[in-house]
Order: sequence, then C-alpha cells, then structure tokens
Amino acid sequence: MDSALVDPPHAAAGVKLVRSKGELRAILAAERAAGRSIGLVPTMGYLHEGHVSLLRAARAECDTAVMSLFVNPTQFGPGEDLERYPRDERRDAELAAAAGVDLIYAPPVGEVYPQGFETTVEVGGLTEVLCGDPARRGPEHFRGVATVVAKLLNSVQPDVAYFGRKDAQQVAVIRRMVRDLDIPVRIEALPIVREPDGLAMSSRNAYLSAADRERATALSRALREVERVAGEATIAASLEAGRRVLAESGIEPEYLEARDPDSLQPVTDLSEGPALVALAAQIGDARLIDNTELPADGTRTHPYRGKPARRPDKEG
Ligand code: AMP
Repeated sequence: MDSALVDPPHAAAGVKLVRSKGELRAILAAERAAGRSIGLVPTMGYLHEGHVSLLRAARAECDTAVMSLFVNPTQFGPGEDLERYPRDERRDAELAAAAGVDLIYAPPVGEVYPQGFETTVEVGGLTEVLCGDPARRGPEHFRGVATVVAKLLNSVQPDVAYFGRKDAQQVAVIRRMVRDLDIPVRIEALPIVREPDGLAMSSRNAYLSAADRERATALSRALREVERVAGEATIAASLEAGRRVLAESGIEPEYLEARDPDSLQPVTDLSEGPALVALAAQIGDARLIDNTELPADGTRTHPYRGKPARRPDKEG
C-alpha cells in the first residue's frame, strides 16, 4: 500500500496520508482548482508543541493545511544522528489531525531521492557560518535542507510555508533561496515554543538524560542573560555574560554569536540593526540550538514578547 488513507485510527481522525508525489499533486491540484489556498509545514516528525504551533497557523490561515513528514538523510552528516533520529509516525498523524491538518505527505526516501538523483540547491555565504561552518555541521547540512525544501515547495506549491525561528539560520537560508530562485511562496517564521523552564522544544531533547535535561536549561538562561546585559552594555560584553552562565553549568558552546538576522554577517553594535544571537552546544547525547533576537537600539522592547511595544499614544 504505497499511498492510501492511513490505517485507523488515523483515518478516523480525518487526516489523509500520502506517500507519492503523484497522489500529492493530484489532490492538491484539485484543491487549487477549487480556489483553495494551501499552507505547508515541513517537518521531520516526532512532533512537539513547536511543530504544532506551525500546524495551527497553517490551519488558521490557509484553506488546506499540509504537513510533510520526512527525515531528510541529505541534511545529516556522517556520524550525525540520522539512524537514531526519533520517529513515531502514528503519534505524529494523531497530533497533526488534532491540529486540523488535512494532508500528510510522508514519502519514503526513494520517492524524494530516486535512483539517478543529481541536482542540489546551494545557497552561498549564509550557509558557511554558525551551523554551516565547515568545522561544525558544514555547508553540506544546508545544501541538504535547501534541496529538500525546494523539492517540497515544488511538490506542494503552497501559498504559504511555515518555519520555526528556533532554526533561525534555516529561515535565513530558505528566505534567500526563495528570493534568489523566484519561488512563488510566502515564508512565515513563527516564534520559538519553549518548555515551562525555558528549554526550546526539540525532537532531539528526547536524547537527554535527566541530568542533561536539567543542564540544558542553561541555554535559554544564557540567552536571557545576553538580553539583559545587552540592555546596558556592548554586544561583546553581553555574549561574555551569556558564556559565563553556560560555563556555570559546565557547557562550552560550539558557538554563541551575534549576527544580522538576514545576512548572518557579524553584528557588533545594535545601532547597526537588530542582532540574532545564536547558540549551539552539545549537551550529553544531544546537539542543541537556541537563539534570541536583540532589537536594534531605539526599538527596544521585551525580546521574549516578540511584538513591538505599543506606543503610549496608541494605547487604548
Ligand atoms: P524539524 O522537525 O526539527 O525539522 O522542525 C520542523 C519545523 O518546526 C522547523 O521549521 C523548525 O524550525 C520548527 N520547530 C522546531 N522546534 C521548534 C520550536 N521549539 N518552536 C517553534 N518551531 C520549532
């Protein structure tokens, strides 16, 4: 059974699961012909509230909500966690159905990368820093991401595609790819969803032991410290303060850097514009990332609230 309604109870939940591009295209062509807008949420599954926030946005803003579910092998480097990446398709389908998703596209690897596949999408510059630094995951990681997202955008042809700011560099890379290749889609980037103690939700949090789970809270605490100090000192001093918080928990970050959110060029002063402060660290068995955005000088508001402060004259 290559492409069909999923077994109960998924079918009962009302979500349709397809595994082939052919069936996906046929269903979505009919939706498009009926004048219905399409929203796409690309995921690698093992859903948590971060994913669900994207699914709910697609459900609320588009007529047809599509989730892709594909652990993309080309974005994992040798020695990374492809084999052990957590998977639970049945639970994912239930959560997607509960969030109002209409269609899940969960192709096998051979459907995405058939024999003879030779073309990749490479976004320059942006993919060589932070996680793309050759000493870290390397630009190959983002080549895998850009290629699979380009394929998903071509297969689904959504009006809107939803991504999480948790993967801020990924958002910058995808926005650039869409602009450079004239892909007709609107990219929406939604806020990071966190556990009550601040840890950014991630499928990889499943790798953490109880002790490492506790230690991992230092990541968001460090970012809050960066935000606090940035209000009264230089970016360099605020990054230093963040590093001290990490060091107290014995964490040596892979990187903790301030960069322009779009160009990913280093930012040293908030008078130049806002800064993405991005962090990656290995905590036990999990390589985790997190980030925050520091607003440019003169536009400061509470960074965790996301929205610009309302001016007193607009209050009411
Ligand atoms: P993944 O399944 O890890 O590839 O993530 C699929 C999408 O969910 C990506 O756009 C991620 O940025 C987004 N995402 C993952 N974790 C979170 C989170 N904690 N908050 C918001 N979005 C997230």
